[in-house]
Amino acid sequence: MTTNNLTRLTRKIIERGFPELRQIYVIANYKKSDYALEWGVLRQPIRYCIVVDSMFRKAPVSVVVGGLAHELGHILDCENYSLWVDYVRQFLISLSKTLYILNERKIDMKVIRRGFGHELADFFKWTYAEKPENPERGLNLSEIEELIANT
Ligand SMILES: [Zn+2]
Repeated sequence: MTTNNLTRLTRKIIERGFPELRQIYVIANYKKSDYALEWGVLRQPIRYCIVVDSMFRKAPVSVVVGGLAHELGHILDCENYSLWVDYVRQFLISLSKTLYILNERKIDMKVIRRGFGHELADFFKWTYAEKPENPERGLNLSEIEELIANT
């Protein structure tokens, strides 16, 4: 099986900022989607798939890196909890908008701490310009910029 560019980019991000995921098989693909990016567990042995909306094919690399780093933050959470605990956690998050938003913000902070703050800001700006109707759920741009300045 050949590895596509998006999966190679994901590997580079893992090497740069998510060393815990080095042994984890993560693939990424472009696909027409209602979501900017999504992640999911494929099958045993556990491996993950990140789906990136086709509109990002025309985005600058830094934008895609920001989005992928965010999804890797989710995957790292999933790895840190046992599969069963994470399943219950994800279920509770799906029931509560507040928990959902808190979780998204926590992921964004992790992405910034791991050195992808500029890419996250680029992702935010580009995605907002392309799809302003997308509800903002994680950190907003001024919060991202303030955290970058303070790290
Ligand atoms: Zn997220």
